[in-house]
Amino acid sequence: MTATIDLDANATTRPLPAVVSAMRETLEVAWGNPSSVHRHGMDARHRVDLARHSVASLFHCRPGEVVFTSGGTESANLAIRGVLDRFRGSQRRILATSRLEHAAVRECAERLARREEAEVAWIPHDETGVVDLQALEALLDERAEEIAIVSLMWANNETGVVSPIAEIGECCRRHGVVFHCDAVQWAGRHRLDWSALPVDLLTASAHKFHGPKGIGVLLTRSGAGFEPLLVGGPQERQRRGGTENVPGIVGLGVAAEAAARSIESGAWNVAARRDRLEQSLLARCAGASINGGSAPRLPNTLNIAFPGLEAEAMLVLLSERGVYASAGAACSSGSLDPSPVLLSMGVPPEAAHGSVRFSLSDETTDAEVDEAIERIAEAHARLSRSMV
Ligand code: PLP
Repeated sequence: MTATIDLDANATTRPLPAVVSAMRETLEVAWGNPSSVHRHGMDARHRVDLARHSVASLFHCRPGEVVFTSGGTESANLAIRGVLDRFRGSQRRILATSRLEHAAVRECAERLARREEAEVAWIPHDETGVVDLQALEALLDERAEEIAIVSLMWANNETGVVSPIAEIGECCRRHGVVFHCDAVQWAGRHRLDWSALPVDLLTASAHKFHGPKGIGVLLTRSGAGFEPLLVGGPQERQRRGGTENVPGIVGLGVAAEAAARSIESGAWNVAARRDRLEQSLLARCAGASINGGSAPRLPNTLNIAFPGLEAEAMLVLLSERGVYASAGAACSSGSLDPSPVLLSMGVPPEAAHGSVRFSLSDETTDAEVDEAIERIAEAHARLSRSMV
């Protein structure tokens, strides 16, 4: 049987064995409700507290600044809608964001605008996928008093393009505006020092760094108040009601400890492997080009356009050959629509239709990259032949 090669780490990563066993053990022996005052409850509470400390240590924040949520989507919604809700009735009704954001932010913004619950200011970006800092600055100069929150991502899930987060944050600080950063593709893979970061609210998700799905965090600065989305319980210091997902939180804690070690060792700095994949595919696949290629990028991400081909067809063929990748965001694959992020970057529709994302993990080996190059180039040749 052909060995499979997973080049879809931006969609998700394999839960570590230590994560799985800690979660299983929690389900079996620590199934109490952390709010209960008896021993079962106290055991569960203790495990949640330990995990909170592990997360705080990974992100260099205080345990009290960590709010556990059901993942990146909920954290981003909580930040944006929670801050807008806090400013309800005031003149701060603007959400400033960009069309490059993950659907968790972009669709939240579109919905808020449609329902007239917020005015959305779309911050422009260049064709490499980097937001225009001067445009942000000009917007803040002009309308800071009306802006409830700025929400911009750290690293793009599709192209890997990295934003100048510190500069964006400084700009928001100067204007006294709350800044939320969707750091899902950065957090747990690369160093993130919350104590030195000019960010008020930050979203991270466990399954992007070998933790379980359905659990994430919102890091919160004390000044950046927000209303909870979920009410009905005092959990997470009134910031997120509902009995805690104890096994998920424990799994996240274990993943956070491993992530701290892997960041220390630079395990996610896989640029050399990614570059080899990129150069080889550019050389062997006529007409191919890199989306976002001239911007600063995550070291693990390659978004490559094969004009004239259908990304879906390529993904199916690759999957048959044991190479797993994505087109656009994982959640929208299955639809034939090209990625709105690529279109917004000015990638021509034909190239966007034929764009595939390969994302390596800290577990991807040199041998896998070599083998993937052969299988991808061969799939490309076969599809190109069938197009003539
Ligand atoms: N933000 C970004 C940049 C992402 O890549 C993702 C998931 O792919 C999310 C948010 C949503 O996170 P989750 O899957 O934990 O809801």
